[in-house]
Amino acid sequence: MLRPSHGVGIYTRLFGENAQPDPMARLVVKFGGTSVADIDRIRNVARHVKREVDAGHEVAVVVSAMAGATDRLVGWCEAALKTRRIFDAREYDAVVATGEQVTAGLLAITLQDMDVNARSWQGWQLPILTSNVHASARILDIDGAELIRRFGERREVAVVAGFQGVHKETNRITTLGRGGSDTSAVAIAAAIRADRCDIYTDVDGVYTSDPRIVPRARRLQKIAFEEMLELASLGAKVMQVRSVELGMVHNVRIVVRSSFDRPEEIDSHGNPPGTLICDEEEIVEQQVVTGIAFSRDEAQISVREVEDKPGVAAAIFIPLAEADINVDMIVQNVSADGKTTDLTFTVPAADYQRALDVITNSQKAIGYRRLDGATDIAKVSVIGIGMRSHSGVAAQAFRALAERAVNIRAITTSEIKFSLLIDAAFTELAVRTLHTLYGLDKAAQ
Ligand code: ADP
Ligand code: ASP
Ligand code: MG
Repeated sequence: MLRPSHGVGIYTRLFGENAQPDPMARLVVKFGGTSVADIDRIRNVARHVKREVDAGHEVAVVVSAMAGATDRLVGWCEAALKTRRIFDAREYDAVVATGEQVTAGLLAITLQDMDVNARSWQGWQLPILTSNVHASARILDIDGAELIRRFGERREVAVVAGFQGVHKETNRITTLGRGGSDTSAVAIAAAIRADRCDIYTDVDGVYTSDPRIVPRARRLQKIAFEEMLELASLGAKVMQVRSVELGMVHNVRIVVRSSFDRPEEIDSHGNPPGTLICDEEEIVEQQVVTGIAFSRDEAQISVREVEDKPGVAAAIFIPLAEADINVDMIVQNVSADGKTTDLTFTVPAADYQRALDVITNSQKAIGYRRLDGATDIAKVSVIGIGMRSHSGVAAQAFRALAERAVNIRAITTSEIKFSLLIDAAFTELAVRTLHTLYGLDKAAQ
């Protein structure tokens, strides 16, 4: 069963006013691909784990595949197809789940080599039960009782292969979608009622924007679940979207931190601290804008010169929905001829060709003249809970981007975010401009 986390315990130690070392806590620690990229790094991970065990904590570790391993496995699946266009997703999962199996075993060996009692667990062994939507399965249930029993009886560290699970009825291996080890970690934290879930990665926290693109991005000390959810779903790959949803629902406190901090330099107060993902109420100084995300994974489709009559939107979007294609931004405006209308929308880049085919097949029912598309586009999104109580935030962005000659193709807004569709070539310029505009730049050093 997934259960809510049982109290604050160790968080007061790390983030409270009168931070005190907590004598014993139950932790889930997750290490991403770059953190386990080779044997030296796995040894470094083992030293982090040993530090927590030596401090008296009960530890479950979740590991990703070594950096690049999953891409290689996906590539092999694609290369194996010669006559068909798509592969059997069940076999794809059987292949790609192996990356995590390797790192779980290697970390258990390394921990044992350091005299830490440890064993590896694959998804089906725990079991981590999921839906049967192969390649993007959802976790339905995890029984944490055996892990808890072993913490108590043997002081055994559980090393769990992330990203994978099993479907109960068919008994087939499933995977949770790219970046899914974050979700494994948060789900296990909920199931064993962990005091904290530490996501160790190659950056030391969640930043105001991707630090690879915005050198002046700042690390956030805390971020609200809602904002993290928007950041993640709008393109910030630091956490998988589903993991943030689970954290929010089950009240799992998540800390994003760097695996490159040297274990021996982390003090008993947990410094250096990373970013705490928590409830909105805990954030004392709320900014209007918290962060900026971007995504180049979408494509634009414009259905042009459609007769403006009831039922047109249904004729376009129902066939797309039936083909399981997610439509994101939608804009409708008057066509160049002034008599008909143009409908522009975005779909995931991976579904672009399929979406064009679906629309072409429905040409009669829709009754359009022209169909245009573009894949060299980007979606830039501005996120902040403070937008609920401030107006005019988006308007400032329109002006700042116009001054830099960045053309906006489409706009969507909601309570705590707005998104702009622009030409991909302007992504960096737009993200950095907005980062400065909303006062997110760190002070020059
Ligand atoms: P892991 O392999 O540990 O799961 P990921 O590559 O999935 O790591 O996620 C970490 C990366 O997320 C960082 O290297 C960074 O480039 C990217 N990232 C994107 N947006 C942000 C952000 N707002 N804050 C921190 N990192 C971000
Ligand atoms: N190894 C998987 C991936 O590369 C899962 C993960 O790393 O979280 O997507
Ligand atoms: Mg990741």
